[in-house]
Amino acid sequence: MPVLMKRTEKQAQISPVEGATSALFPQCGNPNCKSGWLRLWRSRDVPVFEGKWACSTLCARELIESAVLREVHGGMGAPVVHQHRVPLGLLLLSQKQITQEQLRRALDAQAKAGTGRLGEWLVRQKAAAPEQVARALAAQWGCPVLSVDNFHAAMMAPALPRLLADSFGVLPLRTAGQTLLYLAFESRPDSCITLALERMTGLKCEAGVLCDSEFERAHAALLRASFPKVRLLEATSLRGVAHAMTAMVEERRPVEARLVRMHNYLWLRLWRRAGSQRRPLPSADEIEDMVCTFSTEPGIL
Ligand SMILES: [Zn+2]
Repeated sequence: MPVLMKRTEKQAQISPVEGATSALFPQCGNPNCKSGWLRLWRSRDVPVFEGKWACSTLCARELIESAVLREVHGGMGAPVVHQHRVPLGLLLLSQKQITQEQLRRALDAQAKAGTGRLGEWLVRQKAAAPEQVARALAAQWGCPVLSVDNFHAAMMAPALPRLLADSFGVLPLRTAGQTLLYLAFESRPDSCITLALERMTGLKCEAGVLCDSEFERAHAALLRASFPKVRLLEATSLRGVAHAMTAMVEERRPVEARLVRMHNYLWLRLWRRAGSQRRPLPSADEIEDMVCTFSTEPGIL
């Protein structure tokens, strides 16, 4: 039995049933693969990276390197949308929800403290209710006000690594059906985070805001939940990132792996086994993450 099968031989071998079986015997996913190995004849069924089987460590490395470059240089982040928005204070003022005096006091306090959002100061000074501020923020950003009902921290923690949930003030709130994930943001929806989560989870993400106090409570509960295992990496070069990610993929041999960028982080997720069809999010023990910070300055591969 041959252990190595050239591409040219493939047609003759499997063409009669190709329609039915070609998915079982795919070629290496690296477009520059020199080996021509078919999956059938390799002892490695995995790793699979972004739906592509890598026939060798070298091919896994090339697939991952090009994904790293795509994320860092390829504009896979959020499109920059310059939208005109009315400042929160003016919005509340124009709707007569606060007075000029209340706005001035809140702005003064904010300037003096040098910290805190205007909405927080308005609530703290009892000029506005948290719900009023949330509605105004939603109007400002053109997004819904979400509710924390049915939020389960333990179920939502596998949505993203703790470090990213913490750094970007994002709260995976709940899923709906098999296809939708609601994301709450602390003050404004972040489309870079939303798009990255859509690509990573395969779910449509709907972003909105919550009342401050609700956000804080739920976010704190999320951060206390148990998250998937994660490796953190501080990279000095993109080559170093690709090397470390390849090493992890080769070591863990995932059935699927994906790479996305969230601002200055690269997030690699590995699925150790195929997830349950019934759950839109994996459970924490089905996956493993690697999170890597990178600088956009010099790091060329
Ligand atoms: Zn290959």
